[in-house]
Order: sequence, then structure tokens, then C-alpha cells
Amino acid sequence: MSTFGSAESGSIEADRRGYDRAGAVATSFDVEAIRRDFPVLDQEVDGRPLVYLDSAASSQKPRQVIDAVAGYYLRDHANVHRGVHELARRATEAYEGARARIAEWIGATGPGELVWTRGTSEALNLAAFSVGQARVGHGYEIVISEMEHHSNIVPWQLLAARSGAKLRYAALTDDGLLDLDHLAGLLGPRTRVVSLCHVSNALGTINPVAEIGELVRDRTDAIYILDGAQGVPHMRVEVASIGCDLYAFSGHKMCGPTGVGGLWGRRELLEELPPYQGGGEMIERVYRDRSTWAEPPHKFEAGTPNIAGAVGLAAAIDYLDGIGIDSIHRHETELVAHAVAGLSRIDGLRILGPAGIERRGGVVPFVIEGVAAQDMGTILDVQGIAVRAGHHCAQLVVDRYGVEATARASFYLYNTHEEVERLVEAVANARRILME
Ligand code: PMP
Repeated sequence: MSTFGSAESGSIEADRRGYDRAGAVATSFDVEAIRRDFPVLDQEVDGRPLVYLDSAASSQKPRQVIDAVAGYYLRDHANVHRGVHELARRATEAYEGARARIAEWIGATGPGELVWTRGTSEALNLAAFSVGQARVGHGYEIVISEMEHHSNIVPWQLLAARSGAKLRYAALTDDGLLDLDHLAGLLGPRTRVVSLCHVSNALGTINPVAEIGELVRDRTDAIYILDGAQGVPHMRVEVASIGCDLYAFSGHKMCGPTGVGGLWGRRELLEELPPYQGGGEMIERVYRDRSTWAEPPHKFEAGTPNIAGAVGLAAAIDYLDGIGIDSIHRHETELVAHAVAGLSRIDGLRILGPAGIERRGGVVPFVIEGVAAQDMGTILDVQGIAVRAGHHCAQLVVDRYGVEATARASFYLYNTHEEVERLVEAVANARRILME
């Protein structure tokens, strides 16, 4: 069987020119050295080298992170904040040191602005609960968009049902952008919350979050919240300069462990908001009939936290920082431009999301007319290629663009141009098999 690549090798050159034209700058990015840090990538699936293109769902972990987590358990583990003994001191230092490292990396003014959570979903649930208690009631409005992950829809639906507030959705343009005029028209004195994704997991769209911040401040007194699950792993984020009030993220999408993430918040806001969950560590004093709260961020952190997760996430930040987040972003943009150029040449294939590469993160969702996305995912899997197929927890996005589901290739620092070529070849093969 002739393969897509070998049958049309001249076209692969054209794809490369495509991403060169997209403004790619040659870098000294050593992807082979990076790949050696990720043991999981060195394996075969169905007799072919694994091509992992599902990092938007969860990224793989470098040895440095695995070693940091193992080292913590091998030498230092105890509960934090409570003990007077050496291991408790070490665990507390590692845990609070990790907080400071991550706070610094995202441009917080101090570690007190970073609340540990299990990830983005928990961070957004915390935000919806606490902001809801403090600021939202009947007659007010919460503005989100049709681009949101279910984690940034359902907590607001729950709040709307609880409080009597109205949930409003900013519309999307046909080419996968937030419709800023429509968004602006929704904002007004009744708006109490604006919560949007920084980067869409289902379209790849990078939203102009600082510009939106100005709009929100000009027109409302709302709390401006960003779902940064696909932002902070892939690009430089300076929370303070975006002009948002709360920013949520997950560690497992940026080379860190699962079950750890955070919610950054402006200090004054964290002071104002009520706690989300009750329990040990989040109190100052417990009386029979009431309690008083610890200072933020501890006020929002009931119970024994994911200490090893925090340690692993700090190691992940050190790792990404060592390579340079700007270089990582540039590498991903080159891969995405290459993938878009290659996939676009396949008959009947439609790529969702923005046409301009500069508006797209490391995500390429696509559909082929007459081919179920699930079948596409399965046929890619038997060729050793891991993509995700479905609605990607963004049901409103697939509804908006009139499809049932998409196949989604997502890229990260360890992916290569050869892998992009394998993807394009395998999608073309899968199309042939499924259409015949
Ligand atoms: N928001 C976006 C944009 C996401 O991509 C994801 C993960 N797919 C989430 C929220 C939820 O993140 P988590 O499952 O880590 O809580």
C-alpha cells in the first residue's frame, strides 16, 4: 500500500514551507534531547513507535518530575504544617516552596495568592461557590461563552440554579473566535462574573484575554475569571498583567502529576471570599457554634493536601522553565502550522478553529465528512497514534459547528515534525479505509 507521505513526498516539503510561511523561526530547540527525558514515549503500539498527540487531555511526565515525586516519598514525606519533627518540617518546606515557585512562575505578587486545588475543575468550582456566595444573587448575570469546557459551564449552571442569577453565553464566530462584539453587548451593571477560557481545548483558539479584561473593567464591576488549563502549560502567563481576578490551571497538563493544580487570585479578593470547603487547616479557631478562618490561601485548603503532587508540579515548572516557555510555544506553533498545512490537503477534511496560526494553541481538531471521529481515533490508534475523539467536554462547541464529534491532535514540547507527517499519512490512510 502506498502511503500518503511516500506517494506525495513533494507535498510534505510544501507542508514544511507552509509552517515556514507561518512565521516560524529556526530555533535550537533540541526535541530529541527533550524526548529522552520522557521514558513513556520510548515504546511501540501495535508494532509502531508511539506518537502521543493527546497532551491537551494530559501531558506526559519527564524523568525529573517522576524522580522528584519518588524522592519526596523516599526521603521526606510527612503531613504538612502540623508536626514539630524533621520530616514534617521538610514536607512543609517542600510544599510551601512549591507554592512559591509556581506563584512566581505565573507572575503572582506572592505565594499567598496561590490556592492549591486538585486541578482546573476544582479551581473553577471553588470560584463559582465562593464568588457566588459573596457577589451573586437573583437579578444578576454570569457571562461565559459557547467555547467553554464543561468545567467552566456546569459550576456556573449550578450557581445560577442556586442563586436565581441568569447565565449568558457569548457567541462564537464561524472561524472559531470569541465574538467580541457579542460579548461586549452582554456586559453591563448586572454582570457579576465573566468566566472564559484562556485557550480553548476544543478549538485551539487563544483568546485576547487582556483586551477582554479591559472590556470587563470598562463595562462592569464583575469578577473576571480565566480557565487557564490550556494556557499556562503552553505560553508565558503573567496573571497580574492580564487584568483578571482569578486564574485556574491543572498540573497534569504541564508535565506535572495528576490531582494537583491551582487557583490564582488577587489578594484582596481572596481575603473577601468565603471558604469553599470546611475542615482541618482552613480555620483559625473553632468554637462550638462557629469558626474563624485562616488567612488565604489556607482558608481555601481544607484537609491534607496533595503534597507529592505539589512537589512534582514544582519540578515540572523547573523543567519547562529550563527549556523556556517561549521556545516551547514557538515549537508548538511550528508543529501546528505543519499539521494544519498537511491535514488541509486531505479530501473532505475540515479543521475547526481559527484560520490564523497565531490565534491557535497546540490543538488541531478535525472532521472528515462521512467519517465518524471515533472510528478515525480507533484507526489512528492501531497505527500507533494517540489522539482524542469526541466532544472533548465541550458539547456546545461541537453543537455550534454542526458536528457530532471531532478527532483532536494536540501537541507539546516533545512532539516532532516526523510525528506530524505520520499523523497526516495515517489520517489519509484512515480516510481511505473508512470511506471504501
Ligand atoms: N478547562 C479546559 C480548557 C480543559 O482543557 C480542561 C481539561 N481538559 C479542563 C478545564 C479541566 O481540567 P481538569 O480535568 O484537569 O480539572
